[in-house]
Amino acid sequence: MNAEIIAVGSEMLTPERVDTNSLHLTAELNNLGVEVVTKCVIGDDRERLTDAVRRAVSRSEIVILSGGLGPTEDDLTREAVAQALGRKLIFRDELAVVLERRFAQLKRKMAEINKRQAFLIEGADALPNDRGTAPGQWVEESGSVIMLLPGPPHELKAMFERQCLPRLKRLLPPLAIRTVFLRVAGMSESDLDALIAPVYTKYRNPVTTILAAAGDLQIHLRARCATAAEADVLLAEVAGPIELLLGDRLYSRNGDPLDVVVGQMLRRQHATVSVAESCTGGMLGERLTAAPGSSDYFVGGFITYSKEMKVQLLGVPPEVLQQFGAVSKETAEAMAAGARLHTASTYALSVTGVAGPDAGGESVPVGTVYVGLADAAGVLSVHRQFIGDRTRIRTFTCQMALDLLRRRMAKP
Ligand code: ATP
Repeated sequence: MNAEIIAVGSEMLTPERVDTNSLHLTAELNNLGVEVVTKCVIGDDRERLTDAVRRAVSRSEIVILSGGLGPTEDDLTREAVAQALGRKLIFRDELAVVLERRFAQLKRKMAEINKRQAFLIEGADALPNDRGTAPGQWVEESGSVIMLLPGPPHELKAMFERQCLPRLKRLLPPLAIRTVFLRVAGMSESDLDALIAPVYTKYRNPVTTILAAAGDLQIHLRARCATAAEADVLLAEVAGPIELLLGDRLYSRNGDPLDVVVGQMLRRQHATVSVAESCTGGMLGERLTAAPGSSDYFVGGFITYSKEMKVQLLGVPPEVLQQFGAVSKETAEAMAAGARLHTASTYALSVTGVAGPDAGGESVPVGTVYVGLADAAGVLSVHRQFIGDRTRIRTFTCQMALDLLRRRMAKP
């Protein structure tokens, strides 16, 4: 079954507001095995809205509108849907009574215009609004279901959950949905797709989606079957070969982010970590301390932005800085060794690079990054050249540092 979502309201077309309702509704619908095939935002324009509803109803089994159910002239959803379906709007005394009671409960006087909210599309069911005043509406039209829900997210969520979900469950065939959520580091989105596409493109079920963020790729597999056992079999059939192809680039099978995975590995090994950061300015320490209980393994860090601080706090030899520069393999390794020496941690990670947008006096190009790692066996470093803006380069760098530690711990 396919669904469309129409977010109504001119404010949703401004840079100040984001249509979050459709994201929530999409997640809920996906859980029922319903795919959202189209969504759009329409301003307070009756003609455009009527058009959009007409088109949506002609091609999708489920159409959900959010917003535009208020009492003012620019709240047009009721009128537009009625017009699109060729039905009348009927004033319902019982809804007016409910509205009056609701206003009395809220100790507010009900304005005359609020009576507009007591109009129901011919043949529709009113959906009570426990969190606001505007009732929603549920309309069925030749094989399609149309839901009119209020715009405020807390009203919409409650109404969808309490009123719409039970009705939808009765309409939809029983369906088990199972998911696998893999996370991958150390490769680009295109390389990942080239690697695993030969496996997942053979299957329409499960559906495979790749989501990319800086240095972090997520693979979602969603299987829909009549029973959970059947869905699990399908998932294993696709996830198994994908996991084999990914090898040690796969860092999470349950959706945990890299900092959590690294924290769990450190805890299991009764090991500790410290950091020495230059271009990331504390971001790496922030990532390593994001999870509760991180004091079990994170001992502390140094933010050594200037060359002087690298020398004073970490003991980087001035001649290393002079000969190789602050952004170099030698400096990264000396920083990591210094952090480990000063904190007595099992592992120390260091970061030095040029996050941009200018090279800031360094002789290396923007995006050059060195990450060092010191442990009992010695010091090593990795060099990468990233592209992107400052935030992206810094985010990539943290991910790269965490991944270096993960791989080191996996192969002691
Ligand atoms: P009300 O009776 O409160 O006017 P309504 O159904 O008419 O309800 P709107 O006036 O369209 O709702 O929206 C009210 C507020 O709800 C908006 O100002 C906005 O903050 C929020 N809102 C509306 N639509 C969305 C959306 N799609 N995503 C997130 N927030 C939304």
